[in-house]
This record gives sequence, structure tokens and C-alpha cells, in this order.
Amino acid sequence: MIIIKFGGTSVGDADRVANAIDIVAERQGRQPIVVVSALAGVTNDLVAASEAARESDIERVNSIIAKVRQRHEDVAMRLVQQKYDFFESFIKQLDRQIEQIHTILKGIALLGEITPRAKDKVSAIGEKLSSVLFAYSMMMRAVPGEHVDSEEVVITDDRFGEASPLMEETRTAAQRVLLPLIERKLIPVMGGFIGRTRDGATTTLGRGGSDYSAAIVGAAIGAEEIQIWTDVDGMMTCDPRLIPGARVIDRISYVEAAELAWFGAKVLHPKTIAPAVAQKIPVRVLNTHNVASPGTLVTEQGDDRDHGPRAIALKRNISVVQMTSSQMLGAHGFLARLFAVFEELEISVDLITTSEVSVSVTIDEKHDMDELVEELRPIAEVEVLDGQCIIAVVGRHLMKDAEVGARVFHAMRGIEMSMFSLGTSGLNLSIVVDDADADRAVRAVHQALFEVPVEVA
Ligand code: ASP
Ligand code: MG
Repeated sequence: MIIIKFGGTSVGDADRVANAIDIVAERQGRQPIVVVSALAGVTNDLVAASEAARESDIERVNSIIAKVRQRHEDVAMRLVQQKYDFFESFIKQLDRQIEQIHTILKGIALLGEITPRAKDKVSAIGEKLSSVLFAYSMMMRAVPGEHVDSEEVVITDDRFGEASPLMEETRTAAQRVLLPLIERKLIPVMGGFIGRTRDGATTTLGRGGSDYSAAIVGAAIGAEEIQIWTDVDGMMTCDPRLIPGARVIDRISYVEAAELAWFGAKVLHPKTIAPAVAQKIPVRVLNTHNVASPGTLVTEQGDDRDHGPRAIALKRNISVVQMTSSQMLGAHGFLARLFAVFEELEISVDLITTSEVSVSVTIDEKHDMDELVEELRPIAEVEVLDGQCIIAVVGRHLMKDAEVGARVFHAMRGIEMSMFSLGTSGLNLSIVVDDADADRAVRAVHQALFEVPVEVA
């Protein structure tokens, strides 16, 4: 069994849906389960409709919902229309859902407030509609799709808007609902992003949560592979908007992928593949616009070479906080006191470097710096550098020899660095530079590491 998940742009219009169905049809022999996102932009529309309802802007609500309805009808017109009774029964389901949204939105407008629970109920409609539409479109193309309600499969806690799966219950539900269909050679099609609580309330797994659904379902049924079909060729050695010559990474390990995502690569979020990682299920990132491309395979093992750089990520909007104190010299408990402040203000720290009398850390720029400085001042002298960014070279055993570090330093000649860190894990070599130097620095480092072969002994 494999999971085939399509992102919003991969089901954005009738041609994309038809293309996605071809992809599924070609993989029929592998017992696929299809997980789809909402049509591109629909979740944003639904969130906007909730907002408009809260502001009692009924006109705007109606126009957004009419547009959402029309988009689904348009795709159905193109793909399902040839068979009139299918089309009719799809439109009936569409209208039932649309009516339900209107009822909820009216409630929101009346109260002038949105509860997280109501918001989830509205946001979930995008995947409900796309999955029903996809299943109908499959049947029209003689691919045996069978719609499955995600709420029957994914059971979550009740953190609306950011729910987490209850894996035991989900496993039982997924196996009960999905396996009999697969046995009958049907292809289950379900919406991503949605689950329900034990007592039946609709939840969502957080924005972009359809990948998470794919991993949850894959883990629940013990899939052999989870395929994430998107609109890029896979994970890249760098953001191609920064580096036109960036290359697709063919294999990468879970930890490297997680490290990259943390530092801003957007293709896979570590949280979303955690259920796959827990069971060592390979995750493959593929491109619906370029089916022939092999994509990126993310596994426990990663690349056969167990060392060397894999990719570069850039994280902007960083501040460096430098804390200096002579109290630190030879003392114990000093760092604990410093970090207690970060803990108290709930500020997460990315990089840390220390000398005997000073500690520098990076944090997201969004935090209230005045408050932080105020709290730290009794303990240390504090200096904050805004407008910084982290350039992270991610790979494995980057300290195995000096080659990678040497190349990075060589590439960085003439560019000022405000921090440099290479952890003992050897997973990530990070440089902090002024935002104004970011593009130049990334280009230089990418060239040094990926455009000239690196020979690590
Ligand atoms: N449709 C949801 C969103 O836009 C989930 C997803 O696409 O993964 O956030
Ligand atoms: Mg998405």
C-alpha cells in the first residue's frame, strides 16, 4: 500500500485533477490511498469567509462562497458532466455542503465571534469538497475511486485549528475503514487536513496539514511509501529563487530534512512527517508538473554517503542577542539564569555560541526585544543585532574533515559574519550575516559546496 497525496496546486483546476488521476491510475498496482488538499486557494477563501462573517459582512461572505462553489462546479463540468447522473449527484452533495457552510457562517455573523470549533468546521469544507470531486472524477475516468470521509479515519485531540492525531484510535479506524476497500481493489480517496475528536467534532490539523494527514494515514495502515505530490521537483540544494542552479536532492535522511525545514525550506514540515518517521516509512516528494522526475526520497538512512553537505537553507528576520558578563567567568549557574529569562518569555533560541564571558543566541525578530533586554539586564550586558539571517548548511558529519568548513570560510571572504556555529552532531553548519549580505553569501556558499565537487576524505 502507498499513500498518494496531492497538494492544492496539483488539484487546482480540471486539467490538474485529470493529470493527478492519471498519476493514481498508473500506480493502481501498488494499492494506493489518495489524500487530497483543497483546491488551491480554497482554504484561504474559507478563512476569509469566516472573518467576513464575524464582521457581519454578509455580501462578502456570499460572494466568497459563491466563488468557491463555482470553482468546484467548473471542474465537475469539465470532468464529470459527460455522465449526467454523476454530475447531478455531485452537485447535490456540493449544494448540501454549501448550505451547511452558510448555516455556520450565519451563526458566526449573528454572534459576531468565531469559536475555534466553528472555524474548523468552515475550513474543513475545502477538503470535503475536493475529495468528493476527486472521487467522482476518478469514477468518470474509469479509475475505481471510492470516497472516504476523513472524519471516519483520523481521530484527533480537541485542539481545534492545530489538532494532533490520537494514533491508537486512528489506527483502528483507518484499518477498519480503508483495508476492506483496498481488498476489493477500490482506491480510497479522502481529504487531508481534517479529523474529528472522539466525540465527533470536526477538527483541522493546522495550515498545510494535508501532508500530515498523509503521514498519519500511512503510519496507521503501515504503508510502504508516502508520496507527496506537489509543484516542485523535490527538495533542492537551495531555494531556486535564490540560486537558479540549485539541484534536486535525490536522497536525504529524516533528520536532515527536518533540519532543513526548521531553517526555512518549505517543502516538508518535520511535524507533518513525524508519524512516518516513527515507523520508518519512506516519504517521496514528487512533482505533478514533471512526472518523469524521480523527486526526493526521504528515509531514515538518507544518502549512501554518510557525510557531506546536502543543502543550504536561509532563515531571515533573525536577531542576534549577545549577552556579556564577567560574572560568567568560571561560574556555574550563569547560563541557567540567562536561559530562565528566555523560558519565562517563551522565546525559542535557534543558535548558541559562547566564549568564556559572553553568550550569543539567535531568536526570531518578532519578539519583544525591549522586554527581553529589560529582563536580562540585571544578569548581563545585552546587545541586540536586528536584521540578521541564518544561512544553514545542512548535511551529515560535517565535521568529519575540515573540507566543508574550509570551503564555507573561503567563500565567505569579504562578508562579515556575526555568528558561526557547527554543532557536534555535524548536522548543521550555520553562519549569521546581515540581511543585506544574505543573497551574496548564499550564492557564494552554494557555489563552493554544490557547484564544485566536494571531496571529503
Ligand atoms: N488546505 C489546507 C491549507 O491550505 C491544507 C493543505 O493544503 O495542506 O492549509
Ligand atoms: Mg497546501
